[in-house]
Amino acid sequence: MSVKTSKSAYRGRFAPSPTGELHFGSLVAAVGSFLRARARGGRWLIRIEDIDPPREVPGAAASQLRTLATFGLVPDEPVMFQSRLADRHRQAVQQLMETGHAFPCACSRRDLPADGIYPGTCRNGIAAGKTARSIRVRVADEAIEFCDGIQGLQSHNPARQTGDFIIRRADGLIAYQLAVVVDDAASSITEVVRGADLIDSTARQLHLYRCLGLAEPDHAHLPLVVDENGNKLSKSSGADPILRYPPAIALRLALRVLGHEPPAALRSAASQLEWAGRNWQFEKIPAGPAAIGVQPG
Ligand SMILES: [Zn+2]
Repeated sequence: MSVKTSKSAYRGRFAPSPTGELHFGSLVAAVGSFLRARARGGRWLIRIEDIDPPREVPGAAASQLRTLATFGLVPDEPVMFQSRLADRHRQAVQQLMETGHAFPCACSRRDLPADGIYPGTCRNGIAAGKTARSIRVRVADEAIEFCDGIQGLQSHNPARQTGDFIIRRADGLIAYQLAVVVDDAASSITEVVRGADLIDSTARQLHLYRCLGLAEPDHAHLPLVVDENGNKLSKSSGADPILRYPPAIALRLALRVLGHEPPAALRSAASQLEWAGRNWQFEKIPAGPAAIGVQPG
């Protein structure tokens, strides 16, 4: 077992992708990770995950940061931009190749079976006449367990989820799974607090920590936000509370999702955030999913 010597120096983070305006699910993740870091006497960082230009919207990062600031969510250190950290992503790919954990793959999407699980075609070398497209990391057929701070004991087997998975894409871009691991480790993040939509990625990320010899953070996955019908809250339906309501109401709803709704008398976002910080009890956060009551019209 690795010994986490830095456990006393809690470091948390919020890592949005600049693919549009900040949406309500992201606000919940930002508030949850922020208050957790405050309660632990630690630092809270923001990292903009801008390594997928085809999906990005110009100006979205700045807009998201402005929105976060209106909720009082200001990081303790300068905002990091993942696109500026490409050298260490490339070094990690190199390290995984040199240690035999990763291999070049010539397969395109249509070479894969319908379930999308990589069958190991290029594990032992690329077939004659084929050209390397992407780079994948090997996974063993075994479950990776972790104790999630909110969702409890988890067990996922990456071999049954995705098989050997891509760390550098055919377009040359670094895959999310690798970048998030390398950057969290470089920032000495001690606990990743994020939305439950990312819980399935965790085993793959823990696998990468182990292959790279990096200290693993703890994980806590916040409840998914759903609408009254149990569907994932759509970004585009106009139902997003950040767009519909002033900050104090959107924040109240986010704190409700997190099991920490402030007293009605607290009407400003600042007083609500302050109240939640004083009354924060991690074990009060529901595993979810959590519905929010957005009134029609
Ligand atoms: Zn292949």
